[in-house]
Amino acid sequence: MPNSSALRDALTQSPNNLSLLLLYGRACLEELHLDEAREVFTRALEQDPDQTDAMLGIAKVLFMEGDTSGAAVRAERVIFLEPTNAQAHLLLSRVYLSEGDRPKAIEHFDRAAQIDGTMSDPALERELGRTARDARKTAPAPAPEPPSQEIPMTGGGTDQDEFFDDPFDDPPYDWRPETFYAPGDPERGNVTFADVGGMEELKEEIRLKITYPLQFPDLYKAYGRKTGGGILIYGPPGCGKTLILRAVAGEVPCNYLSVGLHEIFDPYFGSTERNLHQIFETARANAPCVLVFDDIDSLAQDRRQIRESQMRNLVNQFLHEMDGIRSENQRILVIGATNQPWALDPAFRRPGRFDQAIFVAPPDAPARAQIIELLAKDKPIAEFDTKELIEATNGFSGADLKWVFDRAAELALSAAIHTGQPVPITLELLLAVAKAHSPSTAEWFEGVRTHAQSQEGPNSIFNDMRKFLSAPSNTKKER
Ligand code: ATP
Repeated sequence: MPNSSALRDALTQSPNNLSLLLLYGRACLEELHLDEAREVFTRALEQDPDQTDAMLGIAKVLFMEGDTSGAAVRAERVIFLEPTNAQAHLLLSRVYLSEGDRPKAIEHFDRAAQIDGTMSDPALERELGRTARDARKTAPAPAPEPPSQEIPMTGGGTDQDEFFDDPFDDPPYDWRPETFYAPGDPERGNVTFADVGGMEELKEEIRLKITYPLQFPDLYKAYGRKTGGGILIYGPPGCGKTLILRAVAGEVPCNYLSVGLHEIFDPYFGSTERNLHQIFETARANAPCVLVFDDIDSLAQDRRQIRESQMRNLVNQFLHEMDGIRSENQRILVIGATNQPWALDPAFRRPGRFDQAIFVAPPDAPARAQIIELLAKDKPIAEFDTKELIEATNGFSGADLKWVFDRAAELALSAAIHTGQPVPITLELLLAVAKAHSPSTAEWFEGVRTHAQSQEGPNSIFNDMRKFLSAPSNTKKER
């Protein structure tokens, strides 16, 4: 959405343009300029008293200001005029929740989810202990009763503070975000370790920490080994970190929760620490469970570099949740991935948190052989000996290799269209494309040397990477 100042300028040219007014009002709402938003939506209603977007805009302003009764009256009016307005049902759900009327809150939440198949609201879902996916699975709610003009609301004051009084003392509940998958869930995806070339050490480490303990519990007991722990994976972009995190879902025989940043950062309820706590609570309540954080550097930043106290609190909370001394963390495996390991707070590397840091380097020759085989599958490729291509792609990331195959396929396809003949992807074509391409990881390696030098020490996270860097052939493409 354009920012509010651009829209305000546009409105000075065309002050009565209703669409512009609504856009500007929404932008003000997003930027929390509540007075301005109220004034703009009021102007829109002066033009059309039944304009439901404007009415809902005012309802949101009132809710944010703590006037839940005023918000409810307007949201009910919107539903009266437009029974399938999912946003109005969502707002009513929030209103009822803040009034302590959970059944009503769930009723309106379900209605919103059933009306709008794409709706998701992680913050509200967390509060309700119910996801939009759950709501859609239940039978559609009966049509709402016609609203009375007088909306019965209990209390009516601002109850939002009650939410925040003791957020960490919520009774246990069975909240699961959309990205929580139980074993056998058809939406869990079917990518497995077999789809990831190389990374053998990492794959085995994940098996050792979660798969084998579930397969051989007695053996683990006999050796006094526990399930779970923390693994940090780091390395240049495009080398398959995200891919392996997805493959873990297809591989491990237990619950899997992939944490999206949008589930943590929550301006509406303003309690990012609590959101993170609840994610961990969900994992604990559903152990054994793998908890996956891609781009973990945005949540686990080095506190010395952080200015805002809210962010610092979040990092402190994250450290606390990860603490190995918390016996409830047993049977949870936390995997974090980053391509900026230097940006992480060093406290994450203490025992009991991310004990293990594994460097995901650009694939070596055997890994490139596997990736090439995976990429060649199901493509019209002429039989060829992969040796030459493996050599020609030294230093390439998995993403670079994928690019080579995609580009070669495009060229072959274009030739097939122009000649009217099937044109296979040949070794010569792949080699020509590869030779014209430089490894995309070079820039990352350039930048990383400085960081690696500044973090000397026997336990440095960079030890694996330093070893890798000391072999020049690893970062230079040999031709
Ligand atoms: P970033 O740090 O930028 O998030 P990344 O390390 O997470 O990058 P991916 O997004 O997992 O990299 O990789 C991009 C794509 O490259 C993958 O979807 C896949 O097609 C291909 N790829 C990368 N590495 C591998 C691999 N080891 N095996 C198979 N395919 C790979």
